[in-house]
Amino acid sequence: MSACTHRDQIADVEPQTPTGCGECMKTGGTWVHLRLCLSCGEVNCCDSSPGRHATEHFHASGHPLVQSFQPGEDWIWCYVDEVTVEPS
Ligand SMILES: [Zn+2]
Ligand SMILES: [Zn+2]
Ligand SMILES: [Zn+2]
Repeated sequence: MSACTHRDQIADVEPQTPTGCGECMKTGGTWVHLRLCLSCGEVNCCDSSPGRHATEHFHASGHPLVQSFQPGEDWIWCYVDEVTVEPS
């Protein structure tokens, strides 16, 4: 069982940049995998990407939960508790 207490911060978000990492697209960067912030809908790149914008977004915003934005993946990661969270 996950120990995450942040599920109440999951909002009904629309991806702000459905085609890629918003920060990377501003700067012409590239990404490996994408993560969707479940609090505000920002799409950012994962820690395997040069920009690591999902982690940067967490530190900047405090938004704890990201969901994989990869086709066929729906797992959620909590940055605060460092656990995966089952999608409801
Ligand atoms: Zn949590
Ligand atoms: Zn990025
Ligand atoms: Zn966010």
